Order: sequence, then C-alpha cells, then structure tokens
Amino acid sequence: ARAQAVVDQARKEGRQVLSATDVYSIFEAYGIPVAPWRMAGSAAEAVAAAEVVGYPVVVKVDCEEIDHKSDMGGVAVNLKDGAAVAAAVESMQERLSSFGKLRFLVQKFLPGGRELIVGATEQPGLGHLVMFGLGGIYVEVLKDVSFKISPVTRVEAGEMLSSIKTAALLNGVRGEKGIDREAVTELIERVSQLLSDLPMIREMDLNPVMAFEKGAFAVDGRIRI
Ligand code: ADP
Ligand code: MG
Repeated sequence: ARAQAVVDQARKEGRQVLSATDVYSIFEAYGIPVAPWRMAGSAAEAVAAAEVVGYPVVVKVDCEEIDHKSDMGGVAVNLKDGAAVAAAVESMQERLSSFGKLRFLVQKFLPGGRELIVGATEQPGLGHLVMFGLGGIYVEVLKDVSFKISPVTRVEAGEMLSSIKTAALLNGVRGEKGIDREAVTELIERVSQLLSDLPMIREMDLNPVMAFEKGAFAVDGRIRI
C-alpha cells in the first residue's frame, strides 16, 4: 500500500522517473536491503544526514534530469568527515544546478562488495522480464546476463545466478570470497514481488547491488513508470 501510494503520487505529479526517496522507500517496503540513507537539500543538511548514516558516506545528486550520476560527477564516494560531505555537495551545486532542482542522497559507503545488476523491463502482454548479471564496468563489456519472466520464484532466482557464463566468479576464485547467494536470490524474489504488485513500472534497475560474503544491498536504484 505504501509503495502504491508512492507511485500514485509520482503519477499525479506527472513524474515518470521516481526520485531517490521514492525508489528507496519502495525497496524498503518490500524488504529489499539497501545501504542506510538519508536525503538532504543543502550542504548543512547533508552533513547532519551523514552523522545519522555514519561515516564513511557517499553523496549522490538526485535530479530527474540526471540519468548517469557518476558520468556527470554526481557521485562522491568514501567521504570521511563533514568537511568532505559539504565540499562534495557544494561542488555538485556549482556544476549541476543548471539541470534543475537538486537533492542529495547521503548513503553509507559499502566498500569491497561484488557489483551485481538486477533489472526489469515491461514486456507488453508478458509482464516483466527480470534480468540478473555482473554489474559495474563488467555489464557493458561482457553482456553476461540471464533473464526470467516475473514472477520469479526463489528457485528460479537461484537458476538466474547459476546460468550466467561467469557464474563461477560468484563463488569466488583464487582465495577470493564468494558472495551470499541466498541473500541475492531472496533480493531477486522480492524484486519480482514488487513488480507483480506494481505493474505500472515500465523499467527498473538496481545497479549496482553490492554483494558480500554476508548480505547484499542495493546502492543505486532507478524506477520509471
Ligand atoms: P550511477 O549509476 O548513476 O553513475 P551509482 O549510484 O551507481 O551512480 O554510483 C556509481 C558507482 O559508485 C557504483 O557503480 C559503485 O561502484 C560506486 N558506489 C555507489 N554507491 C556506493 C556505496 N554506497 N558504496 C560503495 N560504492 C558505491
Ligand atoms: Mg548505478
């Protein structure tokens, strides 16, 4: 009901790309683990938000007109104190304000995870096609992804992990730790539940999901209705 209300409100306001607040609220309503976060409208608010989230943090610009935040210099990672947070916000305000009203996501920095991507697109007459693959820089280069039509059960989600070509990488190679498959399959199942309840979603991605030996957390999300 909470997620539906968020989508209804966006629709009423004519917004097709949901705000970061909308996206993370929807994820939380479905029990999709996300990195701890707060929104801020100014440098001072961002510093206060960072105190709540706990250092180190990441600051990201949130603006309907900005799609790829890092390409625009709209992502500052591993900020360790208030001065760094304030400087990041002020720099983004200077460079990016021409795009429109800027908000700032202050998010816990989660280093050392494996970057995965979970996505979904609406297929007219079929429902949603759910996609899984390695995220970050690998997704464009390797195009190594697997698909299932939603609803995706836990078992099917496990199959999605196993069926990418680089599946072995998920288990860890050469002493590197494997990822928490259980957490990732549950996350995919929850994404599918969200899609079943909110069929008006045209496109969604969680890119990246940061996967660890224990746990997996969405640190970037995009929803288009
Ligand atoms: P965009 O995709 O719009 O450029 P992201 O939010 O995905 O912006 O951030 C870009 C990259 O920054 C991510 O792919 C990831 O490598 C890194 N990153 C973002 N958020 C975090 C975080 N909370 N912890 C660790 N790394 C992060
Ligand atoms: Mg991203």
